[in-house]
Amino acid sequence: MPKIALGFTGCKVNNYEIQVLSEALESAGMEVVSFNDKADCYIINTCTVTSKADTSSRNLIRRAKRISPEAKIAVTGCYAQLKPEKVSRIGIDLLIPNSEKEKIPGKVLGLIGENGRKHVIDDTAEYGSFIISNMRNLTRGFIKIQEGCDRRCTYCTIWMSRGPLKSRNPRYVIDEINRLYDNGYLEVVLTGVHIGKYRYGDLGFPDLLEKILSDTDIPRIRLSSMYPTEVDDRFIRILSDRRICPHVHLSIQSGDDYILKKMGRDYTVNDLRRIIGSLNASIPDITVGGDIITGFPGETDRQFRDSIGLVENTDIHHLHVFSFSARPGTRAAEMNDMVSPEVIKGRTNLLRKLGTMKKTEHLKKFINRDLQVLFENRMADNNGILTGLSENYLRVNASGDNNLRGNIIRVRPHSLENSVLIANIARN
Ligand code: SF4
Repeated sequence: MPKIALGFTGCKVNNYEIQVLSEALESAGMEVVSFNDKADCYIINTCTVTSKADTSSRNLIRRAKRISPEAKIAVTGCYAQLKPEKVSRIGIDLLIPNSEKEKIPGKVLGLIGENGRKHVIDDTAEYGSFIISNMRNLTRGFIKIQEGCDRRCTYCTIWMSRGPLKSRNPRYVIDEINRLYDNGYLEVVLTGVHIGKYRYGDLGFPDLLEKILSDTDIPRIRLSSMYPTEVDDRFIRILSDRRICPHVHLSIQSGDDYILKKMGRDYTVNDLRRIIGSLNASIPDITVGGDIITGFPGETDRQFRDSIGLVENTDIHHLHVFSFSARPGTRAAEMNDMVSPEVIKGRTNLLRKLGTMKKTEHLKKFINRDLQVLFENRMADNNGILTGLSENYLRVNASGDNNLRGNIIRVRPHSLENSVLIANIARN
């Protein structure tokens, strides 16, 4: 039986798509093996969100060639979409654009001389009609609800690589959530390129959330990043349902109006303050996270201090800080007032430090208070410490039986170590 290994870099969408391919190739009788094992064919889903992602994509391809020099290499994803010549130069056998991902199982079977083997993906069927049954080795299921984006932020290449907005029929989303729940998953993460832009006929993102709440029983529904202006009053009302995890991650990007405008973002710092304020005022114990880019072209010290000020003066509880990376083909890469790498590095370190302080402050609020934690399949370390996430996205470790893994358990944190709550399993 031919062996297939699958690997990816990048986002939850890439991870989800690898799951789809894994199940499709198993249905065709292929043996899906670990990426570190020898295989007859490797399928790699690449990312190009930053220059670092480009490098990891190339390294993954080279690693496959090192592990199995004779193997066939099939590459897809955003880096392959935007830089096909660079990928081909590494020496691969098949390059598949993002728009033809449904065709990968058939093309790969052809590549390894297994034409005619039937598999479960019908590439003539409606977009996104294939439903996954599990999420290899993961405790939470990822559900891709849409892809593509119609915004044109000046630093971004995703809209170029992922193309126009495409949303899945809600029936497939609901069926997928119910199947994962039937298979023991207690939490799903709704993911996509721009989930707030989900639209299927008259059904927008808030409608989809209400439909998921009414047509499924899964206890935890988590959302991936949200574009700030899509966090409106109706969204916040729906978010108050405790089955939707009280955790919102906002793609903020900057705390300065001039820089937001240069980025092509259509909101202001006052909008951000209002949105963050409404979330904290409306949803008890919510965790609000944010993405911020440092060193965008033209960013002065004062404008950077505005980002610091926004984080200091609002209830943002953790940060993902990205150093500006000029992506070829974007308008930002053409801007002539680039900030020096040393200055960018300094700003990134400063903001990350502040982010850690805000996170610690937030975590401390939950010491000696009960939390519901979904313990993950993996252990924190070798001496049997369980690790998991609370509904409001706090990392918690506790000692307990292996059979608690994959379950939602009530715990009571008693201390904090390196941004992780240390807890006891609640007995009564
Ligand atoms: S909204 Fe997000 S995906 Fe869309 S163009 Fe902007 S940064 Fe890119």
